[in-house]
Amino acid sequence: MKELTHFIGGKHVKGTSGRFTDAYEPMTGDTVSKVPLASKEEVRAAVENAKAAQPGWAAVNPQRRARVFMKFLELAAKHNDELAEMLAREHGKTIPDAKGDIQRGIEVIEFCLGIPHLLKGEFTDSAGSNIDIYSMRQPLGVVAGITPFNFPAMIPLWKAGPAIACGNAFILKPSERDASVPLRLAELFLEAGLPPGIFNVVNGDKEAVDAILDDADIKAVGFVGSTPIAEYIYTRGCANGKRVQCFGGAKNHMVVMPDADMKQTVDALIGAGYGSAGERCMAISVAVPVGEDTANELIKHLIPRVESLKIGPSTDLAADYGPVVTKAALEKIKGYVDIGINEGAKLVVDGRGFKMQGYENGFYLGGCLFDNVTKDMRIYKEEIFGPVLSVLRAKTYNEALSLCNDHEYGNGVAIFTRDGDTARDFASKVQVGMVGVNLPIPVPLAYYTFGGWKRSGFGDLNQHGPDSIRFYTKTKTVTARWPSGIKEGANFSIPTMS
Ligand code: NAD
Repeated sequence: MKELTHFIGGKHVKGTSGRFTDAYEPMTGDTVSKVPLASKEEVRAAVENAKAAQPGWAAVNPQRRARVFMKFLELAAKHNDELAEMLAREHGKTIPDAKGDIQRGIEVIEFCLGIPHLLKGEFTDSAGSNIDIYSMRQPLGVVAGITPFNFPAMIPLWKAGPAIACGNAFILKPSERDASVPLRLAELFLEAGLPPGIFNVVNGDKEAVDAILDDADIKAVGFVGSTPIAEYIYTRGCANGKRVQCFGGAKNHMVVMPDADMKQTVDALIGAGYGSAGERCMAISVAVPVGEDTANELIKHLIPRVESLKIGPSTDLAADYGPVVTKAALEKIKGYVDIGINEGAKLVVDGRGFKMQGYENGFYLGGCLFDNVTKDMRIYKEEIFGPVLSVLRAKTYNEALSLCNDHEYGNGVAIFTRDGDTARDFASKVQVGMVGVNLPIPVPLAYYTFGGWKRSGFGDLNQHGPDSIRFYTKTKTVTARWPSGIKEGANFSIPTMS
């Protein structure tokens, strides 16, 4: 069995804590690697390396930094197939979906190519007599990212790209479920010319996370994962005086209006609900048809589509989705299906009995579909994170809107309608961070920002786009007067424009 390492100071470093966890290949159920779980001392070693390397990197001018990113893009393209297969095998998603995971990360690296422009400050000529004011953005120093299992390329790149482009040194603590791709990305950055110590990877669990949160040399932490951990990291990181942004769980609704194109709606719902086995923070997990006729029509069209989903091993290019990440995740999702039945929801498609021929130990689950879900049920309130779609019937548009607004989570949401007024009203009033109109997974492109509302996000600034540059830099403002403009005599009052 392979033993993974940390990546510190540009080198693979074996774990020394003596603690390991197993990582699996979900499509076969085999244990494929041992992942070292870092101690506080190992985290500290990464911080020391990062701290030593950071001033040199910050002194490299932004255009030269961008050239390292250009080279990285070339290498990522050259190794795309290798990365996608590695990702699919370790995570469980299909190879085409793994390529999408990598691509959405690459798009943020492309955004970072504009770093000379993105870092430009402001300048006011003659703000007072012979006085100019200018502001500049400077790196924070050493910053960290803590990332989830479900996008092992995209989310590490969303964190590492802007952090490094801004001149920081970065420490990634990826998910212990699928750390191989993040390690490979750090290697490719080194090969692209990034100095050693600027992109470090420390594998680990709570012990490593706590060491990051308590280390005074780490100035900012970006987290993505489940809401309880997001809240914990936000609270502890802020208490330690760090800049922190945490993105948490989700329950994304799709409102289906009576005038929606039913074929387009069902196509969108099936992909967004079951793609990647529902293990996406932007997956649609609740469909809210408005009116009984819309609901009946939707269910009639959905049932055969869910029943005919093609589930396969991650290497099957024709599969709609692959296995879920671990046996524990599989059991948890099945447990939620049992809960839904006991709560009185109607399970109209039951995928629990699905077996993948030739892969009997893999972590597979057929698509499940619930009708007649109500808002007091746990399967509605909680995030299931699996191929389970709930249909909650609303009588009116206002009831559907209230459901979206009253839910604890506010990551993504969609409305399907042909009516411009309704779509506009929904986009304006819905209390959710990312909204799709006739589009089921409204993940904004890299030059906009990504982030949820309510308990899907903690902190002020979002991921990628202009917010990421603000998050990874601090602003300094300089007010300058040249000696020729200085009048004689001391002034003991606060300077004003009067
Ligand atoms: P998770 O919260 O279990 O783990 C995320 C990270 O936190 C991992 O690196 C993990 O090692 C670490 N961690 C886990 N338990 C910890 C603890 N007790 N103390 C400190 N650190 C701990 O999440 P996951 O299962 O890897 O990912 C799935 C979750 O991530 C879902 O809830 C999903 O909605 C969410 N997610 C959110 C977004 C978003 O942008 N909002 C994007 C992707 C995933």
